[in-house]
Amino acid sequence: MPPETERPGLFRARSMCLVSLAVATLAAWLMACGGGESPRGGKTGATPPPAEGRPSLAVLIVVDQLRADYLTRFKSRLEGGMLRLEREGLSFADALHEHANTQTSPGHASLSTGMPPSRHGIIGNRWYDRASAQMVGCVQDAAYPTLSGRGGVSPSQLLAPTLGEWIKKASPQSRVIAVSGKETASTLLAGRGADAVFWYDRIAGRFTTSRFYAQEMPAALETFAKARPVSALACKAWDRLDGAGDLPEADPDIEPWEPAAFGGFPHRMPCPDSSAPAASPGSIAQGLESEIRITPFLDDMTLDLAEAAIDQYELGKDGAPDLLAISLSATDFIGHRYGPDSQEMLDQIRRLDKRLGLFLERLDRRVGLDRTIVVLTGDHGVTSCPERNPAHHAGRVHAADLERRLQDAMAARLGPGQWVAAIEGPQVYLTDTSGRSAPAAYDALVKEPSVAAVYRREELVGGASVTADSYLPLMRASWTPQRGGDLMIRLKEGWILSDNETGSEHGMPYPADMHVPLILRGPGIKAGSRPEPVLVYRAAPSIASLLGMSWPGNLPAGPLPIAP
Ligand SMILES: [Zn+2]
Repeated sequence: MPPETERPGLFRARSMCLVSLAVATLAAWLMACGGGESPRGGKTGATPPPAEGRPSLAVLIVVDQLRADYLTRFKSRLEGGMLRLEREGLSFADALHEHANTQTSPGHASLSTGMPPSRHGIIGNRWYDRASAQMVGCVQDAAYPTLSGRGGVSPSQLLAPTLGEWIKKASPQSRVIAVSGKETASTLLAGRGADAVFWYDRIAGRFTTSRFYAQEMPAALETFAKARPVSALACKAWDRLDGAGDLPEADPDIEPWEPAAFGGFPHRMPCPDSSAPAASPGSIAQGLESEIRITPFLDDMTLDLAEAAIDQYELGKDGAPDLLAISLSATDFIGHRYGPDSQEMLDQIRRLDKRLGLFLERLDRRVGLDRTIVVLTGDHGVTSCPERNPAHHAGRVHAADLERRLQDAMAARLGPGQWVAAIEGPQVYLTDTSGRSAPAAYDALVKEPSVAAVYRREELVGGASVTADSYLPLMRASWTPQRGGDLMIRLKEGWILSDNETGSEHGMPYPADMHVPLILRGPGIKAGSRPEPVLVYRAAPSIASLLGMSWPGNLPAGPLPIAP
């Protein structure tokens, strides 16, 4: 049903190289209907069976750091779920996230809310909080401790309702479940009021949730932790699928821009009584519990848990449509360590494709693919390791070094004192909020060899642009007055902000970071491929529409062109 407030044709043309934004991906959510909390978490009450021809479940699969070219460059190596979705679904060949800070949390929140970060408030994975004068994580919330005992997590900083919230509001008996390798991803995909929101805790080595969603560890997580202990992965090796050697679709296994400490295949997991493989300085990996995230093992576990949740919460079983949102994090961890052109990335995509094929088969048996909407997309892409192609004349910038150079330049011009509060992604925060020190910061930043442009607060606020820069709308989409920087920087294309000497990054408004696959499959969707540029955020209203539900009238764009 169309939303009563929807205003069609609301797209505003943007003066950019990217003309439109159209689609939005969605998070997969399944909602189950369920009036009561039965011990199994199943649904009770007199909910009617699903209506003929209407989907009873939507599954939003977000592959973290799924760059648009993976499904084409690696296509001849795919034979599982990704290939099946492409053959049986509707693919948008030019789908993109239209915001500058192409990080995980803004991407997921945009997918779930249908809005840009400037509207849902999640402008980055973290930002500088002026009130407390410290960095805050986007789902960090001490009021809601995690049930595995580390920190607190809630969606309280998310300023817009999610697809799951739209569904719950229209259909309280629907179930909304989110599962991910990262707390940010599942929390931002689900939002408020979800039935279960699970993520992998890399310290505890198990899936968990927070008191925002449950007062005690859900039975599904207790059962899963016993059935699939991470300790069973100790000493196990990640080797290539089918014993393949180096495949031509990716670079040779060992390259200088990959971390030497981790070498090539096979990658063996730490053993209880040894320190191998030792984590390199600055590495994101430490023990077994952390290291498994940088292998296909994490996505296997996440999908195993998602399948268990389908049973536990009886998703797709009645007339109240459910949402299951799954964010698969391993591709992101692997891409950061080894880069998007590595044999590791190729093997990860092959294994994920294979596992997703199994997931679709099981989904068909459990719910029926003829009654399920499946959406596959990414939260952002990734930039190739800058050293890989010297002709690009690109490099890596260490945020701490940039911060120090900026501080020194400002002190030289303005006098002693701490002038820089923080640099986080493209956001530059100054200690002086009067604006008087901003020109000194601007002058120093534009001289940086890596910097293409610097944006002033007065431009970001939305007034007349003095630069007439075609990227300004993307910068504004990643900024709010409360959480955004005093200045924003845009690096030259191909450069990355990185704290490591190897591996790669994302977070800039260029095609490699912005473009992601977007495929929808299920009843009401005409299979095929569409070439026009579309905004990935349109996945959320598309899912709502396919489930027969309305969506907020204030979204920048409505559903994708998906009807037969
Ligand atoms: Zn991500």
